[in-house]
Amino acid sequence: MDKMIIGTALDNNLRIIAISAKGTVETARMRHETWPTATAVLGRALIGGLLMSASLQDEQKLTIRFLGDGPVGAVIVDANAEQQVRGYVQEPQVHLPPTFDGKLNVGGAVGQGNLIVSKDLGLGEPYVGQVPIQSGEIATDLAYYYAVSEQTPTVLALGVLVGTDSQVEVAGGYLIQLLPGAPDEIVPDIERRLTDFPNVTTLLKENDRPEYLLSKIFNPDEFEILEKRDVEFRCTCNRERLKDLLGTLEVSELEDMIAKEEETEMICHFCRQRYEFTPEELRLILNEKADI
Ligand SMILES: [Zn+2]
Repeated sequence: MDKMIIGTALDNNLRIIAISAKGTVETARMRHETWPTATAVLGRALIGGLLMSASLQDEQKLTIRFLGDGPVGAVIVDANAEQQVRGYVQEPQVHLPPTFDGKLNVGGAVGQGNLIVSKDLGLGEPYVGQVPIQSGEIATDLAYYYAVSEQTPTVLALGVLVGTDSQVEVAGGYLIQLLPGAPDEIVPDIERRLTDFPNVTTLLKENDRPEYLLSKIFNPDEFEILEKRDVEFRCTCNRERLKDLLGTLEVSELEDMIAKEEETEMICHFCRQRYEFTPEELRLILNEKADI
């Protein structure tokens, strides 16, 4: 199973998180049948969501929405406190020519627009922060969100390497956050460490354990791993929920569906799971609706 590690570094002045999540991103690729550029977009957003989910507790959850004007359309990711993540891109069959340095053109696929992060912390109204998309490369955008919306200086790196067979070879990322009270000189120290630092995918190809990413930034005596958690692609949809959704349709819409006298198919946006409902089931839903 894919892993996330959480710890501290440089005398408890930094919170550090790293993830290796090839299985999570490969599951998403297979479910959504994404093409390479879209795989990288969705994969980075899923890993970003997982990194952000480390601070959630109990029933809390968060949603990341990239609403850009690029060819993949909207990018939606949900993550919960158990590090279960799900997500989709509006147009999965997107592959663009690579960038000048040979990378998948994630920024071009996402385009310009807004990044909206909502956190349901179980306090009634969710906390919602919105910032303009900076580069569409996902990591810089999430770091910008943290800086502007949460006033938390954050370094975030994400990477998805897609092989020539279109499958995910490696995927992962890390997050470094300044904890309150950290001395000012720590910022240039981190910048120095990350100057000319290798890509996440280059490192994970050498060794795909999340510890490896952190060990390249910090010396062994400079950081401590406090927790190790499993992460996975998992959707919360089920037949009952889809049925409830059908129950919210207009009576006339349900009647039209029943009149067709064939199975109605519903597909979950997040995981592409198919659910079929017979006209008899729809009739029951319609009757329940009439009872309310
Ligand atoms: Zn689903």
